[in-house]
Amino acid sequence: MKDATRCIIHPAVSTEGFDSLAVPVHRASTILFKDAAAYAARTQRDLDGYSYGLHGTPTTRTLEAQLTALEGGLRTVLVPSGQAALAMVLLTVLMPGDCVLIPDTAYPPLTGLCRHYLEPRGVAWRIYPADGAGLEAMIDPSVKLIWMESPGSTTMEVQDVPAIVALARRHGVLTGIDNTWATPLLFKPLAHGVDFSMQALSKYVGGHSDLLLGSITVSDLDLRRRLRDTMRMLGLGVSPDDAALALRGLETMAVRLAHVGRVGLDFARRLQGMPGTGEILHPALPGAPGHALWQRDFKGASGLFSVVLDEAAEPRLEAALNRLKTFRIGSSWGGTRSLIAPMSVKSNRIFPHPRNDRTILRICIGLEDPADLWADLEALFAALQPHPQAVQQEG
Ligand SMILES: *Cc1c(COP(=O)(O)O)cnc(C)c1O
Repeated sequence: MKDATRCIIHPAVSTEGFDSLAVPVHRASTILFKDAAAYAARTQRDLDGYSYGLHGTPTTRTLEAQLTALEGGLRTVLVPSGQAALAMVLLTVLMPGDCVLIPDTAYPPLTGLCRHYLEPRGVAWRIYPADGAGLEAMIDPSVKLIWMESPGSTTMEVQDVPAIVALARRHGVLTGIDNTWATPLLFKPLAHGVDFSMQALSKYVGGHSDLLLGSITVSDLDLRRRLRDTMRMLGLGVSPDDAALALRGLETMAVRLAHVGRVGLDFARRLQGMPGTGEILHPALPGAPGHALWQRDFKGASGLFSVVLDEAAEPRLEAALNRLKTFRIGSSWGGTRSLIAPMSVKSNRIFPHPRNDRTILRICIGLEDPADLWADLEALFAALQPHPQAVQQEG
């Protein structure tokens, strides 16, 4: 063997006795076949086998299998982001002339996909109120998918998933849900009959604000095949390095979620009635939108909730936010770092609600010491108060 060849052909070493807790990162484009007959028969490989690095490696299969077990499903498909997971479901299910029903509280880029990509290609979409009022009347033969997101983006309304699934099934319509807030640790959509359970793994599964990945878990092999067909045709796959980060994040997810859930609910309770705050939007608070449904269907709360700001406090918000010490300002969430994002939902909502006109602070609890975080929140709301002198002048 000449040196140039020796540079290319890796010597086989023994793996005997090497037993690591870490999932190996298997990188590959080419997958080798043991002989010409195996190569000739390659198209008959089933979807759980290996044919090309883009379509799966042992690393990605491990993450798929772990998510499938947590979701209580049959198969999981991995995609490069949460938004890609949303797109993959819609692009797989919907044909020109079909229609998808989306809750008013959906993750805004989902309606962006409907408006700017699907609609020009002949796929219709209609918005229904998060509480499902009037949903049945919106179902006609063109409706092929009812999407859900619970709790809803920013305003945290919990949806009646079992009722919506029952309705959809009566009409032979598929259902899907964005389960990113709860993760399958706190809510298991497939157990309620939902067809597509989708997560942005970028959030709690990744858990460190450094990963973009999404998943869709199904209980039906044919739906898995259709999703994988769409993936193959669009040339989408995920990197084994990203899958390994998600596998590592998953190991600590239960402990992280329990912690941020406890701290988040404690803070939500303490913020109730704090000067400068309006409604506290946290599904575990009695009186919050959908609280009874949350109690019935969810095992707990994660660490993301919202605070509606008092209108009078709005002019002082920017200066107050700039004084935060431990919280950082930013979107995305689910990492170790606590975040606050001032949001306005008005341009994304079609059903009127007084809070649509307010600024809403979306708070994501991270893993810092709760005492530091609370001191920051106290200082934030103190800074939102008018100065005593100003009160006198106003009075
Ligand atoms: C972040 C997020 C997404 C999108 O995930 P990306 O990985 O950022 O594309 C989808 N749905 C919800 C509820 C999210 O919070």
